[in-house]
Parts: sequence; C-alpha cells; structure tokens
Amino acid sequence: MSKVQNRSTKNDPVLMELPAACAGEAAAVEFMEKQRWGDLPCCPLCGSIGVYQMKDAKTGERQANYRWRCRDCKQQYTVRKGTVFEDSRIELRHWCYAFWRASTSKKGVAALELHRQTGLSYKSCLFMLARIRFAMADSVVGPLSGDVEVDETYVGGKPRNPGVSKRGRGTKKQCVLAMVERGGKVKIKPIANVTAKTLKGAIRENIATTSTIYTDENSAYKGIGNEYAGGHHTTTHSKHEYVRGDVHSNTVEGFFSIVKRGLNGIYHAVSKEHLHRYLSEYEFRYNHRELEDGARTAAAIKASEGKRLTYRESATK
Ligand SMILES: [Zn+2]
Repeated sequence: MSKVQNRSTKNDPVLMELPAACAGEAAAVEFMEKQRWGDLPCCPLCGSIGVYQMKDAKTGERQANYRWRCRDCKQQYTVRKGTVFEDSRIELRHWCYAFWRASTSKKGVAALELHRQTGLSYKSCLFMLARIRFAMADSVVGPLSGDVEVDETYVGGKPRNPGVSKRGRGTKKQCVLAMVERGGKVKIKPIANVTAKTLKGAIRENIATTSTIYTDENSAYKGIGNEYAGGHHTTTHSKHEYVRGDVHSNTVEGFFSIVKRGLNGIYHAVSKEHLHRYLSEYEFRYNHRELEDGARTAAAIKASEGKRLTYRESATK
C-alpha cells in the first residue's frame, strides 16, 4: 500500500513528457503550463480566461521570455506567476527535474545530488528543494477520521561529519508526532514535548471526534478515548504486546521507518528550524502514494500555486 516506486512508467503520460521538459527550456515552460492550467490557461492575476501567448512581431514565434498577456487586467505574466518558483531565476527545466525527483524518490532527494546532476550551485539546489517542500506542505485538508494510529518518535541527531557543522542547531534530536488513518492519509509534525497536554492537543486539533484512536501504552494519551466515538485502544509494548486483533500501531510505525531511513540516509543532519519542511515532503509522498509517479509530480507542481516563500525563509537548509 505504501509503495511509491516500482511501477511501470509505460502508461504514465506525465512521466513520458518529463525527460524532454528537463532537457530544454521551451519544453519545460510548456510542461509547467500544461500541469498548471491544462487546456484552459487563465490569468493568475485576475482569473480571466481571456489570455494569449505573446508573439514576436517579426517571426510570429512565441516570445523568448514565454510571456502571456491578459485582455481583462492587461497584465503580462509567465507560468511562474503566483507559484513557489515565481521569483527564482533558475531555469524551469531544473525545477521540473527537482519536482520530479522530490515527488518520486521514496527517501527524498538530497541537494548535493541535485547539484551534481544539474550543475546548479549547491545553494540553488537547497533553495529549490526548500520551496518544493513548502509546496508539498498541508497535503491533507481537514481532520483525519476513521481508525487513526498515533505515535511519537525522535528524529535527527548528530551530523555524520562533525567538521561540517559545528553550530548547535541540527545536532539535537527532535520529537515528532504522526497520526495515520489506516488505509488513508497521514499528518506528521514536530512537537515541542511529549506531555499529555501537547499530545492530546494535537489529537484534538487533527482528528475528528467520530474516530477510533490507537496508540501504544504511553500514559500521556490516557483519557483521550472519552472524547472519541470509537474510544482509545492501546497495546503494551513494554510487555512485548504489539498486536491484539485490530489494536496495533503498525501503520504509523511503518511510516516512521520510511521517514527515519530518509532523514538518516539522505539528509544526515536536518536542523530543527527546517525539520517541518522535510516532514512535509514525506507526508506529501505518503498521501499521494496511490498515484503514478507522473501524477504525483503533477500534483506537487499544482500544489505550488498560491504559495510564496521569502528568500530568507527558504535560503538555508
Ligand atoms: Zn488578468
């Protein structure tokens, strides 16, 4: 169920277009336009569909800057307008590649790897990935429901190469809470501590009261069952009890193991400040796991609409 890879690419129309989009700017622009607007291009400034591609007066070809113009608001714009790549000067073909990789690599993609593959600076790659993660954030609208497993864990830790980063940030473990619908969506977020107040607060905020809650025996969750129609069911890990009929947290533990393998293997040390963005990436891929790779990439591009991030927020890891 949680497999996001190993699928055939044969009948995936988006995937068939991606290699060309990653190789040339004209193809990249057309690819992004298609993902964003489909067959109905509209003005990102006023929403009008009275728009047209601007043409070079002499050649009749499309302008080299790929601008559009809106007949209603008279504004000019490109496909970048109102997206996470709006004020970036990085070529769109690189954005296509980064979206592709970030949407389809189970463990995630490292900026260093993108840097080697694209020839862009390491800093530019960090910047692109930070913005893509921002686009991927909030992939679940509304509360979770049904059978929901809740668990907390610690991620992060010391960098593998202590010489690289000597600053304190990024060296401490961070507590993370995940809530997973069996057969459905996941929400994962960093939390300040593991007190009853924090854990129950997160549950109330993110899970509908019609649900059934499953956790381990952590006493901080005690009493939450009174607020949920399906009650609260626990297994006693300390007594080596992991499954008792339907009572288990295997789904959430499976999700944690994907996150941990990724964070340890690809990202090494992620600072606390940016951890939530990395978690968004895992959350997004999990919540779109049923899609083909191409459709998942398209979903990430689509999610980048209406999201802006200042350079300061995204410039560093
Ligand atoms: Zn307009």
